[in-house]
Amino acid sequence: MIRHARARAQALLEQLPRIYPDAHCELDFTNALELLVATILSAQCTDVRVNIVTKALFARCRTAADYAAIPAEELETLIKSTGFFRNKAKNIQAAARELVAKHGGEVPRSMATLHALPGVGRKTANVVLGNAFGINEGVVVDTHVGRLSIRLGLTEETDAVKVEAELMQLVPREHWTMFSHWLIFHGRRRCKAQNPDCDHCELLALCPRRGLEKQPLAGGPKPRAKTAVPTAPAKAGPAARRKAS
Ligand code: SF4
Repeated sequence: MIRHARARAQALLEQLPRIYPDAHCELDFTNALELLVATILSAQCTDVRVNIVTKALFARCRTAADYAAIPAEELETLIKSTGFFRNKAKNIQAAARELVAKHGGEVPRSMATLHALPGVGRKTANVVLGNAFGINEGVVVDTHVGRLSIRLGLTEETDAVKVEAELMQLVPREHWTMFSHWLIFHGRRRCKAQNPDCDHCELLALCPRRGLEKQPLAGGPKPRAKTAVPTAPAKAGPAARRKAS
């Protein structure tokens, strides 16, 4: 077993790219504004649902000015199926109006400016900076990243801001955006909240399974890292289609 979080993070950085070579943002977008809107819509909603909704939304609203001008009721109807639609519509319009008023309709490229937009938290800003602009400003900590960071023994924190701060210490900056994607892919495909598939997990040899110690493995005691670290990539599952970024 790898005892130290830093060494485990390093081992993960070697394994995860081989397991999920096509990991990426699973929200469909073609520019920073679309990704900003899609990320706001993704709160408490699946990426699959958001991608269905944004097909019509992005056809209706192409610029920040479009979002600022669209009648609130029409916007709410377009995004209704993502849940919390009134609040999301309010945030999207408030952010869009600020983009128009202060940023020439463009999405800013800095954490401070993005974070200052109405309804845009650090997680949303990190998603936009990392995936629309290729800027590694932080690590996106969503429900999957938070859960896996604990199970994999990278942190004991449950607060997303503290988890992110610890991951930023453990993972080199150039990997911050992808590290999040790798954990999200693994969380969606293998290490699910309920019934994690530890028995077939590619990371079993290096994972302390924190919080799952009482769930026995079907195959008995787990193997030691030096004898069982996988060398061949496993299928990542069908990757979501990504539009050009
Ligand atoms: S061994 Fe289990 S807990 Fe650890 S990453 Fe794999 S599925 Fe998750």
